[in-house]
Amino acid sequence: MKKLIKDIKNLVVGLFTTGKHLGRHAITVQYPAERWPMPERSRGIVVLLSDKETGKLNCTVCLLCMKACPTAAIDIQYDKDEKGKRILKDFIVNNGLCCFCGLCEEACNFSAIKMANKYEFSTYRSDELIWQASKLQEVGRDVPYEMLKRKKPPPAKAEPLAETEPNKNIQASKNNNGS
Ligand code: SF4
Ligand code: SF4
Repeated sequence: MKKLIKDIKNLVVGLFTTGKHLGRHAITVQYPAERWPMPERSRGIVVLLSDKETGKLNCTVCLLCMKACPTAAIDIQYDKDEKGKRILKDFIVNNGLCCFCGLCEEACNFSAIKMANKYEFSTYRSDELIWQASKLQEVGRDVPYEMLKRKKPPPAKAEPLAETEPNKNIQASKNNNGS
């Protein structure tokens, strides 16, 4: 008898919970036929950004993103010209290693790499998770971004500091002691 009462109680609680949600708007979508719009700042796949006018990659091969990556998901291959300037050969991101931390984007001073709000890149083969520069650029083509102000040229070197009053006083006292 006790069990029957308990079961009826559970049934009523369950029906009450269902009834509460009957008139509410559904929060699920019929994926993949439907998709929720992703927020602009959501961290999805890493892409490379290109100059909006020339279409060339913004990357200056400074290697900061590669050094900042905690999982070694970024591999930048480059040559050097006769002046020692780095020339990008390939920019490889292993999406299987990426933990979507965003540190590469934070490290970049040239608006060249970004975590786009795209997330559909699953595959049955792990080698297909390794994306080269051409694919990273292609996927990043329609990703909106603003050029960082840090792209401005670095400030001119500071002038040597003028001799300060305390230094003059110290020098004068040394001269007095020496005489
Ligand atoms: S930090 Fe930016 S500019 Fe430097 S190598 Fe990475 S993507 Fe290129
Ligand atoms: S998001 Fe993090 S783990 Fe992924 S490539 Fe960038 S720095 Fe590396």
